[in-house]
Amino acid sequence: MLENGAKLLMHNFASALAKAKAGTILDRQAIGALLAAGPEESQELFNAANQIRHDHVGDKVHLRAIIEFSNYCRKNCLYCGLRRDNHSIQRYRLTEREILNAVKTARELGFRTVVLQSGEDLYYDAPTIARLVETIKKRHDLAVTLSLGERGRDDYRDWREAGADRYLLKQETADEHLFSIIKPDGSLQQRVQCLRWLKDLGYQTGSGNMVGLPGQSLATLAEDISLMRELDVEMAGIGPFLPHHATPLKAAASGDLVLTLKTLAVTRLCLPQAHLPATTSLCTLTPDGRKLALNCGANVIMPNLTPAGVRDKYLIYPQKADIIEQPEAALKSIQALLAELSRPLAQDYGHAKKTPGRSF
Ligand code: SAM
Ligand code: SF4
Repeated sequence: MLENGAKLLMHNFASALAKAKAGTILDRQAIGALLAAGPEESQELFNAANQIRHDHVGDKVHLRAIIEFSNYCRKNCLYCGLRRDNHSIQRYRLTEREILNAVKTARELGFRTVVLQSGEDLYYDAPTIARLVETIKKRHDLAVTLSLGERGRDDYRDWREAGADRYLLKQETADEHLFSIIKPDGSLQQRVQCLRWLKDLGYQTGSGNMVGLPGQSLATLAEDISLMRELDVEMAGIGPFLPHHATPLKAAASGDLVLTLKTLAVTRLCLPQAHLPATTSLCTLTPDGRKLALNCGANVIMPNLTPAGVRDKYLIYPQKADIIEQPEAALKSIQALLAELSRPLAQDYGHAKKTPGRSF
């Protein structure tokens, strides 16, 4: 019986992988069969994802400088160290001048994209963010990505009109019930609504999930990937859940490394043209996370350009991989890794290959 079951799973895996390689749109069962890959199939899956990445977005690796400008947050997500009920962290907000200085440093180091990220902090109102984006676009030859959480459509529109190119807003999980537990201030429906607004406004839009959330199954992960494909996102951040000691999920286990890599690889098969980062959470889980991710579908790295004085306060989970390393040293180790993998460093903005409809 077990033997038959194992054979069936292998058959499912083999036929799902063949379909993916042929460019057929995979249904949830086929996505699930790929996610269930055993040790030997996993390597096949990673090789296929690496090949599809090569064929569709090429070998270049894009760098995005992330600047975490505020760790204040109005939300209480169960998994995150920045949640409003965590009174044990020291909160900070960078001034506009400090943010602009960090952006200048990023440009001087050769970056072509800056990502401005924060907790959901309404201290920075819509006109402040719009002014910031406008100033960056005026002063520097840079693509601007925002990742400020859920806001109204008008705010997103104003920032897009000010020149913002991209927006990152991970769905976190496509399971409505799980979402309502881990993000008690919101709903999956509202999150997806925000993602649709962003797409409609012409942002290159990024979603993503956490692998290993308590209560998650392979079916949930298959649903996550299906949702990202349905939303037709240009970017997807796939990383493991990592427990933070000052959150209600402190006793939960970290997301599994291999399952995270499999989810990344299957996402590449389902979204061949997307930009997929080697996430910081993956690099926190294992020191060779970057290399592993780049070999199974990833084509983006996001070095941390948050000023050193506050960087250790943006602690969404403990031992975050990029807390200590200075940008210059990070760039050196990235260059060495890319040389080892024969992957060139992209010199352009790294816009999505498939650029969304409307632009201002
Ligand atoms: N506040 C914005 C939001 O939630 O979209 C942006 C900042 S939030 C800190 C950025 C990402 O951190 C989230 O999308 C989530 O996936 C990730 N994150 C937060 N806590 C995490 C944890 N414990 N483990 C792994 N990823 C985590
Ligand atoms: Fe706030 Fe984002 Fe953390 Fe949720 S994940 S608590 S919205 S910073």
